Amino acid sequence: MQTESSNLLNPLELLKSSGIPKHLLYQSKIEVDHLICPICLNILWKPVACGQDKCFQSYCEVCINKWIQDQAGDVVLQESLYSQSLIVAPDSGSGSQYSSQSSSFSEMPQQIHVETTLPNCPKCKRPFKKTSIPIIHNLLDSIQLSCIYEECTTKPGYEQFQKHILQCPFRRINCSGCGLQQLQNELEQHENQCEQVTIECSKCFNKMSRKLFQIHSIDDCVQQQFNNKDNQIAQLYKKIEELNQKNQQLEQKICKMLKGDSFDTIHQFSFKTMFTQNYQFTGNQAIEAKLIRPSFNLQKQKNDFLHFYINHKIKTQAVQGIIWRMRIQTLKGNLLIGICSTLCHYSIDFIINKLGEIKRKEWNENKYKLLRKGNFTFSEGDTLTFQFMPLQQCLRITNENRHIVCRFEPTEIIEMGDSFFSFFSLENQGDSLIFI
Ligand SMILES: [Zn+2]
Ligand SMILES: [Zn+2]
Ligand SMILES: [Zn+2]
Ligand SMILES: [Zn+2]
Ligand SMILES: [Zn+2]
Repeated sequence: MQTESSNLLNPLELLKSSGIPKHLLYQSKIEVDHLICPICLNILWKPVACGQDKCFQSYCEVCINKWIQDQAGDVVLQESLYSQSLIVAPDSGSGSQYSSQSSSFSEMPQQIHVETTLPNCPKCKRPFKKTSIPIIHNLLDSIQLSCIYEECTTKPGYEQFQKHILQCPFRRINCSGCGLQQLQNELEQHENQCEQVTIECSKCFNKMSRKLFQIHSIDDCVQQQFNNKDNQIAQLYKKIEELNQKNQQLEQKICKMLKGDSFDTIHQFSFKTMFTQNYQFTGNQAIEAKLIRPSFNLQKQKNDFLHFYINHKIKTQAVQGIIWRMRIQTLKGNLLIGICSTLCHYSIDFIINKLGEIKRKEWNENKYKLLRKGNFTFSEGDTLTFQFMPLQQCLRITNENRHIVCRFEPTEIIEMGDSFFSFFSLENQGDSLIFI
Protein backbone atom coordinates (compact mmCIF):
# COMPACT_ATOMS: atom_id res chain seq x y z
CA MET A 1 0.00 0.00 0.00
CA GLN A 2 1.42 3.35 -1.05
CA THR A 3 0.23 6.62 0.37
CA GLU A 4 0.64 10.22 -0.73
CA SER A 5 3.37 11.67 1.41
CA SER A 6 2.47 15.34 0.96
CA ASN A 7 -0.53 15.54 3.27
CA LEU A 8 1.03 13.54 6.06
CA LEU A 9 2.42 15.02 9.22
CA ASN A 10 5.94 13.97 10.00
CA PRO A 11 5.71 12.73 13.60
CA LEU A 12 9.34 13.57 14.27
CA GLU A 13 8.84 17.17 13.18
CA LEU A 14 5.33 17.70 14.50
CA LEU A 15 6.10 18.47 18.14
CA LYS A 16 9.40 20.21 17.48
CA SER A 17 7.84 23.35 16.05
CA SER A 18 4.50 23.85 17.78
CA GLY A 19 1.78 22.37 19.96
CA ILE A 20 -0.72 19.65 19.09
CA PRO A 21 -3.16 20.69 16.31
CA LYS A 22 -6.61 21.31 17.76
CA HIS A 23 -8.32 18.91 15.38
CA LEU A 24 -6.50 16.06 17.08
CA LEU A 25 -8.41 16.67 20.31
CA TYR A 26 -10.69 13.67 20.76
CA GLN A 27 -12.28 14.22 24.13
CA SER A 28 -11.96 16.68 26.96
CA LYS A 29 -14.06 17.12 30.07
CA ILE A 30 -12.91 20.69 30.44
CA GLU A 31 -12.93 23.81 28.32
CA VAL A 32 -9.93 23.37 26.09
CA ASP A 33 -9.53 27.09 25.43
CA HIS A 34 -7.47 27.34 28.63
CA LEU A 35 -4.99 24.90 27.16
CA ILE A 36 -4.24 26.74 23.94
CA CYS A 37 -0.86 28.31 23.25
CA PRO A 38 -1.38 31.98 22.24
CA ILE A 39 1.63 31.79 19.92
CA CYS A 40 0.85 28.72 17.76
CA LEU A 41 -2.87 28.52 18.63
CA ASN A 42 -2.50 24.75 19.12
CA ILE A 43 -2.91 22.66 22.25
CA LEU A 44 -0.02 23.35 24.62
CA TRP A 45 2.91 20.98 24.30
CA LYS A 46 5.29 20.78 27.28
CA PRO A 47 3.95 24.07 28.63
CA VAL A 48 5.94 26.67 30.50
CA ALA A 49 4.34 29.76 32.00
CA CYS A 50 5.11 33.42 32.56
CA GLY A 51 5.89 33.83 36.28
CA GLN A 52 4.71 37.46 36.51
CA ASP A 53 1.99 38.16 39.06
CA LYS A 54 -1.51 38.08 37.55
CA CYS A 55 -0.24 36.81 34.19
CA PHE A 56 0.79 33.13 34.48
CA GLN A 57 0.16 32.68 30.76
CA SER A 58 1.26 29.25 29.51
CA TYR A 59 3.04 28.70 26.22
CA CYS A 60 4.43 25.64 24.45
CA GLU A 61 8.05 25.32 25.44
CA VAL A 62 9.16 25.37 21.78
CA CYS A 63 6.99 28.40 21.01
CA ILE A 64 8.18 30.58 23.89
CA ASN A 65 11.78 29.50 23.36
CA LYS A 66 11.59 30.55 19.75
CA TRP A 67 9.94 33.82 20.78
CA ILE A 68 12.65 34.53 23.37
CA GLN A 69 15.30 33.66 20.83
CA ASP A 70 13.82 36.07 18.32
CA GLN A 71 13.71 38.79 20.99
CA ALA A 72 17.18 38.24 22.33
CA GLY A 73 18.63 37.65 18.90
CA ASP A 74 21.71 36.35 20.57
CA VAL A 75 22.31 32.75 21.38
CA VAL A 76 24.77 33.45 24.17
CA LEU A 77 22.38 35.74 25.98
CA GLN A 78 19.61 33.23 25.50
CA GLU A 79 21.61 30.44 27.13
CA SER A 80 22.28 32.58 30.15
CA LEU A 81 18.56 33.33 30.39
CA TYR A 82 17.71 29.67 30.53
CA SER A 83 20.09 29.08 33.33
CA GLN A 84 18.90 32.10 35.33
CA SER A 85 15.20 32.50 34.73
CA LEU A 86 13.76 29.73 36.85
CA ILE A 87 11.62 30.89 39.73
CA VAL A 88 9.25 29.26 42.15
CA ALA A 89 5.83 28.53 40.71
CA PRO A 90 3.11 30.65 42.31
CA ASP A 91 1.11 27.74 43.70
CA SER A 92 4.00 25.55 44.68
CA GLY A 93 2.83 25.59 48.28
CA SER A 94 1.08 22.31 47.66
CA GLY A 95 4.30 20.41 47.32
CA SER A 96 2.68 17.03 46.80
CA GLN A 97 1.42 18.18 43.43
CA TYR A 98 4.98 18.57 42.25
CA SER A 99 6.12 15.18 43.30
CA SER A 100 3.27 13.64 41.34
CA GLN A 101 4.29 15.41 38.15
CA SER A 102 6.02 13.66 35.32
CA SER A 103 9.73 13.93 34.85
CA SER A 104 9.46 16.91 32.54
CA PHE A 105 8.78 19.10 35.55
CA SER A 106 11.33 17.67 37.89
CA GLU A 107 13.81 20.33 36.91
CA MET A 108 11.36 23.19 37.26
CA PRO A 109 10.94 25.20 40.46
CA GLN A 110 14.04 26.77 41.89
CA GLN A 111 14.02 30.04 43.77
CA ILE A 112 16.28 32.05 41.52
CA HIS A 113 15.17 35.56 40.80
CA VAL A 114 17.07 37.55 38.25
CA GLU A 115 16.63 41.25 37.58
CA THR A 116 18.56 41.32 34.35
CA THR A 117 16.86 42.48 31.19
CA LEU A 118 14.70 39.52 30.22
CA PRO A 119 12.68 39.39 27.00
CA ASN A 120 9.12 40.38 27.65
CA CYS A 121 6.18 38.00 27.98
CA PRO A 122 4.07 38.25 24.81
CA LYS A 123 0.94 38.71 26.94
CA CYS A 124 1.76 40.98 29.89
CA LYS A 125 4.82 42.60 28.27
CA ARG A 126 6.78 42.24 31.51
CA PRO A 127 10.07 40.32 31.66
CA PHE A 128 9.40 36.65 31.03
CA LYS A 129 10.31 34.56 34.04
CA LYS A 130 9.89 30.91 33.23
CA THR A 131 7.77 28.96 35.65
CA SER A 132 5.53 25.91 35.74
CA ILE A 133 1.86 25.77 36.66
CA PRO A 134 0.96 22.28 37.87
CA ILE A 135 -2.77 22.71 37.32
CA ILE A 136 -2.18 23.19 33.58
CA HIS A 137 -0.33 19.89 33.47
CA ASN A 138 -3.09 18.17 35.38
CA LEU A 139 -5.70 19.49 32.98
CA LEU A 140 -3.66 18.44 29.96
CA ASP A 141 -3.28 14.97 31.43
CA SER A 142 -7.05 14.62 31.46
CA ILE A 143 -7.57 15.08 27.72
CA GLN A 144 -7.63 12.38 25.10
CA LEU A 145 -6.22 12.84 21.63
CA SER A 146 -6.58 11.23 18.23
CA CYS A 147 -3.65 9.70 16.46
CA ILE A 148 -2.24 11.76 13.60
CA TYR A 149 -2.84 8.82 11.27
CA GLU A 150 -6.46 8.71 10.18
CA GLU A 151 -6.66 4.94 9.93
CA CYS A 152 -5.60 4.54 13.55
CA THR A 153 -8.36 4.16 16.09
CA THR A 154 -6.15 4.46 19.15
CA LYS A 155 -6.95 7.48 21.33
CA PRO A 156 -3.81 8.16 23.34
CA GLY A 157 -3.83 10.33 26.41
CA TYR A 158 -1.77 13.52 26.43
CA GLU A 159 1.16 11.82 28.14
CA GLN A 160 1.24 8.88 25.72
CA PHE A 161 0.67 10.95 22.58
CA GLN A 162 4.28 11.38 21.45
CA LYS A 163 5.21 7.83 22.29
CA HIS A 164 2.20 6.50 20.41
CA ILE A 165 2.76 8.37 17.16
CA LEU A 166 6.34 7.14 17.05
CA GLN A 167 5.18 3.54 17.47
CA CYS A 168 1.82 3.66 15.73
CA PRO A 169 1.37 0.73 13.32
CA PHE A 170 0.01 3.28 10.82
CA ARG A 171 3.18 5.29 10.95
CA ARG A 172 4.76 5.81 7.54
CA ILE A 173 8.34 4.76 6.84
CA ASN A 174 10.23 5.22 3.60
CA CYS A 175 10.91 2.08 1.56
CA SER A 176 14.67 1.50 1.21
CA GLY A 177 14.16 0.86 -2.51
CA CYS A 178 11.58 3.15 -4.05
CA GLY A 179 11.67 5.67 -1.20
CA LEU A 180 7.89 5.90 -1.02
CA GLN A 181 6.22 6.01 2.39
CA GLN A 182 4.77 2.77 3.64
CA LEU A 183 2.79 1.87 6.70
CA GLN A 184 5.15 0.68 9.40
CA ASN A 185 3.43 -2.71 9.65
CA GLU A 186 3.32 -3.16 5.87
CA LEU A 187 6.87 -2.09 5.14
CA GLU A 188 8.32 -5.59 5.30
CA GLN A 189 5.72 -6.95 2.95
CA HIS A 190 6.27 -4.05 0.56
CA GLU A 191 10.03 -4.37 0.61
CA ASN A 192 9.71 -8.06 -0.12
CA GLN A 193 8.07 -7.15 -3.40
CA CYS A 194 9.33 -3.68 -4.30
CA GLU A 195 11.26 -3.84 -7.57
CA GLN A 196 13.71 -1.17 -6.50
CA VAL A 197 14.88 -2.81 -3.28
CA THR A 198 18.52 -3.91 -3.50
CA ILE A 199 19.18 -7.62 -3.52
CA GLU A 200 22.46 -9.49 -3.27
CA CYS A 201 22.83 -12.56 -5.48
CA SER A 202 23.81 -15.42 -3.21
CA LYS A 203 26.05 -16.94 -5.90
CA CYS A 204 27.93 -14.03 -7.47
CA PHE A 205 27.40 -11.60 -4.53
CA ASN A 206 26.51 -8.87 -7.01
CA LYS A 207 24.12 -6.26 -5.61
CA MET A 208 21.26 -5.10 -7.85
CA SER A 209 17.64 -4.00 -7.70
CA ARG A 210 15.00 -6.70 -7.53
CA LYS A 211 13.95 -5.69 -11.05
CA LEU A 212 17.41 -6.46 -12.41
CA PHE A 213 17.72 -9.53 -10.23
CA GLN A 214 14.65 -10.99 -11.88
CA ILE A 215 16.43 -10.84 -15.25
CA HIS A 216 19.84 -11.81 -13.74
CA SER A 217 20.54 -14.80 -16.00
CA ILE A 218 22.74 -17.80 -15.24
CA ASP A 219 25.15 -16.56 -17.91
CA ASP A 220 25.38 -13.16 -16.22
CA CYS A 221 25.81 -14.77 -12.85
CA VAL A 222 28.55 -17.14 -14.03
CA GLN A 223 30.29 -14.29 -15.84
CA GLN A 224 30.17 -12.22 -12.65
CA GLN A 225 31.55 -15.14 -10.65
CA PHE A 226 34.44 -15.41 -13.11
CA ASN A 227 35.06 -11.69 -12.75
CA ASN A 228 35.09 -12.07 -8.98
CA LYS A 229 37.60 -14.91 -9.21
CA ASP A 230 39.76 -12.87 -11.61
CA ASN A 231 39.80 -10.04 -9.10
CA GLN A 232 40.70 -12.38 -6.29
CA ILE A 233 43.50 -13.92 -8.32
CA ALA A 234 44.82 -10.48 -9.28
CA GLN A 235 44.86 -9.54 -5.60
CA LEU A 236 46.66 -12.74 -4.69
CA TYR A 237 49.28 -12.12 -7.37
CA LYS A 238 49.79 -8.67 -5.99
CA LYS A 239 50.21 -10.09 -2.52
CA ILE A 240 52.69 -12.71 -3.75
CA GLU A 241 54.65 -9.96 -5.47
CA GLU A 242 54.81 -7.99 -2.23
CA LEU A 243 55.89 -11.06 -0.26
CA ASN A 244 58.59 -11.83 -2.84
CA GLN A 245 59.99 -8.36 -2.45
CA LYS A 246 60.01 -8.64 1.32
CA ASN A 247 61.60 -12.06 1.06
CA GLN A 248 64.36 -10.73 -1.18
CA GLN A 249 65.12 -7.95 1.25
CA LEU A 250 65.31 -10.43 4.12
CA GLU A 251 67.54 -12.78 2.14
CA GLN A 252 69.92 -9.95 1.37
CA LYS A 253 69.99 -9.02 5.02
CA ILE A 254 70.65 -12.59 6.15
CA CYS A 255 73.36 -13.04 3.51
CA LYS A 256 75.07 -9.95 4.77
CA MET A 257 74.96 -11.24 8.32
CA LEU A 258 76.19 -14.72 7.42
CA LYS A 259 79.07 -13.29 5.43
CA GLY A 260 79.98 -11.38 8.55
CA ASP A 261 79.50 -7.97 6.99
CA SER A 262 77.07 -6.84 9.60
CA PHE A 263 78.76 -6.05 12.89
CA ASP A 264 78.42 -3.64 15.75
CA THR A 265 81.85 -2.50 16.83
CA ILE A 266 82.68 -2.04 20.47
CA HIS A 267 84.20 1.44 20.59
CA GLN A 268 83.66 2.41 24.20
CA PHE A 269 85.48 -0.12 26.34
CA SER A 270 84.92 -0.43 30.03
CA PHE A 271 86.47 -3.08 32.23
CA LYS A 272 85.67 -4.91 35.39
CA THR A 273 88.05 -6.77 37.68
CA MET A 274 88.29 -7.92 41.28
CA PHE A 275 92.05 -7.20 41.17
CA THR A 276 91.74 -3.46 41.24
CA GLN A 277 95.09 -3.10 43.04
CA ASN A 278 96.86 -5.00 40.29
CA TYR A 279 95.44 -3.53 37.10
CA GLN A 280 95.64 -0.07 35.71
CA PHE A 281 93.37 1.08 32.87
CA THR A 282 94.39 4.26 31.08
CA GLY A 283 93.46 6.16 27.93
CA ASN A 284 90.31 7.48 26.34
CA GLN A 285 89.74 6.10 22.84
CA ALA A 286 92.21 3.22 23.05
CA ILE A 287 92.43 1.94 26.58
CA GLU A 288 95.55 0.25 27.89
CA ALA A 289 95.03 -2.50 30.46
CA LYS A 290 98.31 -3.02 32.31
CA LEU A 291 99.23 -5.44 35.07
CA ILE A 292 101.14 -3.12 37.38
CA ARG A 293 101.48 -5.52 40.34
CA PRO A 294 101.63 -9.33 40.00
CA SER A 295 100.37 -11.74 42.61
CA PHE A 296 102.70 -14.55 43.70
CA ASN A 297 101.09 -17.95 44.25
CA LEU A 298 102.92 -19.66 47.12
CA GLN A 299 101.48 -23.10 46.33
CA LYS A 300 102.58 -22.99 42.72
CA GLN A 301 105.70 -21.02 43.49
CA LYS A 302 104.96 -18.70 40.58
CA ASN A 303 102.88 -15.66 39.55
CA ASP A 304 99.11 -16.07 39.32
CA PHE A 305 96.98 -15.18 36.33
CA LEU A 306 94.81 -12.20 37.26
CA HIS A 307 91.82 -11.62 35.04
CA PHE A 308 89.75 -8.63 33.99
CA TYR A 309 86.58 -8.57 31.90
CA ILE A 310 85.37 -6.39 29.09
CA ASN A 311 82.24 -5.15 30.79
CA HIS A 312 80.08 -5.81 27.73
CA LYS A 313 77.42 -8.53 27.74
CA ILE A 314 77.43 -10.37 24.42
CA LYS A 315 74.03 -11.83 23.62
CA THR A 316 74.22 -15.26 21.99
CA GLN A 317 70.71 -14.93 20.52
CA ALA A 318 71.36 -11.57 18.88
CA VAL A 319 71.01 -11.02 15.14
CA GLN A 320 73.72 -8.45 14.67
CA GLY A 321 77.33 -9.55 15.15
CA ILE A 322 79.88 -7.86 17.42
CA ILE A 323 83.48 -7.01 16.73
CA TRP A 324 86.30 -5.69 18.89
CA ARG A 325 90.09 -5.41 18.54
CA MET A 326 93.05 -5.64 20.85
CA ARG A 327 96.79 -5.10 20.40
CA ILE A 328 99.29 -6.93 22.57
CA GLN A 329 101.49 -4.07 23.72
CA THR A 330 103.86 -5.89 26.08
CA LEU A 331 103.95 -9.62 26.76
CA LYS A 332 106.83 -11.15 28.73
CA GLY A 333 104.72 -13.75 30.52
CA ASN A 334 101.72 -15.70 29.27
CA LEU A 335 98.24 -14.43 28.37
CA LEU A 336 94.96 -16.26 28.67
CA ILE A 337 92.14 -15.12 26.39
CA GLY A 338 88.78 -16.43 27.46
CA ILE A 339 85.04 -16.29 27.52
CA CYS A 340 82.84 -16.97 30.54
CA SER A 341 79.14 -17.39 31.07
CA THR A 342 78.81 -14.97 33.98
CA LEU A 343 80.92 -12.60 35.99
CA CYS A 344 80.48 -14.61 39.18
CA HIS A 345 82.33 -17.70 40.39
CA TYR A 346 79.73 -20.15 39.12
CA SER A 347 80.86 -19.72 35.58
CA ILE A 348 81.85 -21.90 32.65
CA ASP A 349 85.12 -20.68 31.17
CA PHE A 350 86.95 -21.39 27.94
CA ILE A 351 90.47 -20.08 27.43
CA ILE A 352 93.19 -19.96 24.77
CA ASN A 353 96.80 -19.57 25.77
CA LYS A 354 99.80 -18.57 23.76
CA LEU A 355 100.64 -22.23 23.04
CA GLY A 356 97.42 -22.48 21.00
CA GLU A 357 95.72 -24.69 23.58
CA ILE A 358 91.95 -24.39 24.12
CA LYS A 359 90.91 -25.40 27.64
CA ARG A 360 87.66 -25.61 29.56
CA LYS A 361 86.85 -25.16 33.24
CA GLU A 362 83.60 -25.64 35.08
CA TRP A 363 82.73 -23.64 38.21
CA ASN A 364 83.17 -26.66 40.54
CA GLU A 365 86.49 -27.70 39.02
CA ASN A 366 89.86 -26.31 39.99
CA LYS A 367 91.71 -26.96 36.78
CA TYR A 368 91.31 -26.12 33.12
CA LYS A 369 91.07 -29.28 31.01
CA LEU A 370 92.61 -29.36 27.57
CA LEU A 371 90.06 -29.64 24.75
CA ARG A 372 92.27 -29.29 21.70
CA LYS A 373 95.50 -27.77 20.48
CA GLY A 374 95.79 -25.79 17.26
CA ASN A 375 98.30 -23.57 15.52
CA PHE A 376 96.91 -20.35 16.93
CA THR A 377 99.57 -18.38 18.75
CA PHE A 378 100.24 -14.76 19.56
CA SER A 379 102.97 -12.63 21.01
CA GLU A 380 103.96 -9.07 21.73
CA GLY A 381 103.02 -6.64 18.93
CA ASP A 382 100.25 -8.76 17.44
CA THR A 383 96.79 -7.32 16.87
CA LEU A 384 93.84 -9.66 17.46
CA THR A 385 90.34 -9.15 16.05
CA PHE A 386 87.41 -10.75 17.87
CA GLN A 387 84.28 -11.38 15.84
CA PHE A 388 81.15 -12.88 17.36
CA MET A 389 78.73 -14.18 14.70
CA PRO A 390 75.49 -15.01 16.51
CA LEU A 391 73.79 -16.68 13.51
CA GLN A 392 76.67 -19.14 13.31
CA GLN A 393 77.12 -19.25 17.09
CA CYS A 394 80.80 -18.77 16.58
CA LEU A 395 83.46 -16.56 18.10
CA ARG A 396 86.38 -16.14 15.70
CA ILE A 397 89.69 -14.67 16.84
CA THR A 398 92.03 -13.57 14.09
CA ASN A 399 95.70 -12.79 14.58
CA GLU A 400 96.02 -10.11 11.92
CA ASN A 401 99.82 -10.16 11.92
CA ARG A 402 100.16 -13.89 11.39
CA HIS A 403 96.94 -14.54 9.42
CA ILE A 404 95.83 -17.35 11.68
CA VAL A 405 92.40 -17.95 13.14
CA CYS A 406 91.05 -19.60 16.26
CA ARG A 407 87.39 -20.44 16.85
CA PHE A 408 85.19 -21.08 19.81
CA GLU A 409 82.69 -23.52 18.31
CA PRO A 410 78.84 -23.47 18.48
CA THR A 411 78.78 -26.18 21.18
CA GLU A 412 81.05 -24.03 23.31
CA ILE A 413 78.98 -20.89 22.68
CA ILE A 414 75.78 -22.81 23.51
CA GLU A 415 77.27 -23.66 26.93
CA MET A 416 77.39 -19.93 27.63
CA GLY A 417 73.59 -19.69 27.67
CA ASP A 418 71.95 -16.35 26.81
CA SER A 419 75.09 -14.28 26.96
CA PHE A 420 78.76 -14.26 27.76
CA PHE A 421 81.65 -11.99 28.62
CA SER A 422 85.17 -12.00 27.28
CA PHE A 423 88.11 -11.81 29.65
CA PHE A 424 91.91 -11.63 29.69
CA SER A 425 94.43 -12.83 32.28
CA LEU A 426 97.95 -11.44 32.50
CA GLU A 427 100.68 -12.96 34.62
CA ASN A 428 103.75 -10.82 34.32
CA GLN A 429 104.21 -7.36 35.82
CA GLY A 430 104.30 -4.67 33.13
CA ASP A 431 102.51 -6.73 30.50
CA SER A 432 99.76 -4.75 28.84
CA LEU A 433 97.02 -4.94 26.21
CA ILE A 434 95.55 -2.03 24.28
CA PHE A 435 91.88 -2.14 23.26
CA ILE A 436 91.30 -0.18 20.08
ZN1 LIG B 1 2.56 26.87 20.93
ZN1 LIG C 1 3.24 37.31 31.27
ZN1 LIG D 1 -1.91 5.68 15.84
ZN1 LIG E 1 9.50 0.32 -2.49
ZN1 LIG F 1 24.50 -13.93 -9.52
